[in-house]
Amino acid sequence: MKLLRFAPLLILLVAGCTQETASPDEAATPNIVFIFTDDHTARALSAYGSVVNETPHLDRIANEGMRFNNCLVTNSICAPSRAVILTGKHSHINGQLTNGNRFDGAQQTFPKLLQAAGYETSIIGKWHLQSEPTGFDHWQVLIGQGPYYNPRFLVPGDTVQIEGYTTNIITDLALDWLGTQRDVSKPFMLMYQHKAPHREWHPGPDHFELYADEDIPEPANLFDDYSNRASPAAEQGMTIARHMNAENDLKMSAPRSMNEEQAAAWEEVYGPRNEEFRAANLEGDDLTRWKYQRYAKEYLRTVAGVDDNVGRLLDFLEENNLAENTVVIYSSDQGWYLGEHGWYDKRWMYEESLVAPLLVRWPGKIQPGSVNNAMVSNLDFAATFLDLAGVAVPDDIQGRSLKPLFLGETPEDWRTSHYYQYYEYPGYHCVERHYGVRTERYKLIHFYTRDEWELFDLETDPMEMNSVYDDDAYAETVAELKMELTRLREHYAVPEDERPTGPCIPNERGAPIRQ
Ligand code: CA
Repeated sequence: MKLLRFAPLLILLVAGCTQETASPDEAATPNIVFIFTDDHTARALSAYGSVVNETPHLDRIANEGMRFNNCLVTNSICAPSRAVILTGKHSHINGQLTNGNRFDGAQQTFPKLLQAAGYETSIIGKWHLQSEPTGFDHWQVLIGQGPYYNPRFLVPGDTVQIEGYTTNIITDLALDWLGTQRDVSKPFMLMYQHKAPHREWHPGPDHFELYADEDIPEPANLFDDYSNRASPAAEQGMTIARHMNAENDLKMSAPRSMNEEQAAAWEEVYGPRNEEFRAANLEGDDLTRWKYQRYAKEYLRTVAGVDDNVGRLLDFLEENNLAENTVVIYSSDQGWYLGEHGWYDKRWMYEESLVAPLLVRWPGKIQPGSVNNAMVSNLDFAATFLDLAGVAVPDDIQGRSLKPLFLGETPEDWRTSHYYQYYEYPGYHCVERHYGVRTERYKLIHFYTRDEWELFDLETDPMEMNSVYDDDAYAETVAELKMELTRLREHYAVPEDERPTGPCIPNERGAPIRQ
């Protein structure tokens, strides 16, 4: 037993000194498949205990690998998250502060470093960074957000339109590249990236009727009134009640058979509005509940499309003898609100949008069915991919490799606090700029252009309904967290955000009305 216990250490020492003498197993460079979605909350993944849906294929990755419960993004919005993943650097370093920026593809990225180390690199699906992909041997990407049907792809020097459902097509293209196009003499890195389940949630033909005869459970805080928090929470434009449109989000108008004049006449004859009347003339909370069902079902149907296609990919790896030596990683660009706080969308440092799903399967290395609670981040992905490939992680990368965590060894000096900053204001949904620090128990948020603060005690208030920033009992905690925030801002070299801000008023779709 003692010999066995020390065997991994011995192998590490040998591998560290002379690569040639490493065992064949240690020397093998794994392939990497990075499965990525857009806006998929962990709360809509049964591996995380979802109460609203089942994701049997994504769950396979967790069952055969490791589930991370604490994967926190640095800036909860689409393009910035992608830039963080490519560079391993915070938004203020990689330049992608908001969706409005154009990614600087001339800078160092992990695909370039993998390519230089002999990996075949490929990205298929959603890119969303405006500039053309760099560092990839093969790329076929959606133009901008891309549609759910009949997508047009950007390829080097051309565009190609393919008929069908985008989630299925991205998988077809990925399997075709894996099966017939790649250089089989090299290890590969495939970024297989879906548009789904991004707004405006058009399901595929296989899932039109899914959930047709059932109600999706509502979150407990669907009717949040945003009291007991700083002013920005109430001023956003991302509510299910007021900022969804009938045409694209809900895809039909709410039942409303009478106008107000007719309703008044009805009341004169029949008395107060009864259950039958309310069912035919939705308003108030009833209308919000109806919108939530419409929205949640469409969202979850697009998730089901992703899940089925992930199953196709996992099956393909097994059938082609690729499963054993391929690390499969599943994540999404941020979390998402599936009705929590009455919202859809993301952006906030609150838990639902701060936490991204992260599932990793690595046969023979990661213990099947394992769970990891360490505070990890999309900032760590680039360093992880490089480390898996045996490539030295450059000093300027700000994240840390998760490889030791995969192997069951969380380093003693692993982070215990996480830095977050969101910049896109004025902008879509009018979520105020903020930065903050999250520790295991607390979260301190600074809405810095207004100099307003929030503190949440996640142990007593996991839904973040009551800021205790002004509570004297937490004065010491506030002081400690402010010091930690200052330390993190210095550590990551965060400059003051001096871009002009301005008023932001959302219209009925959540888009800002410029003034
Ligand atoms: Ca996104």
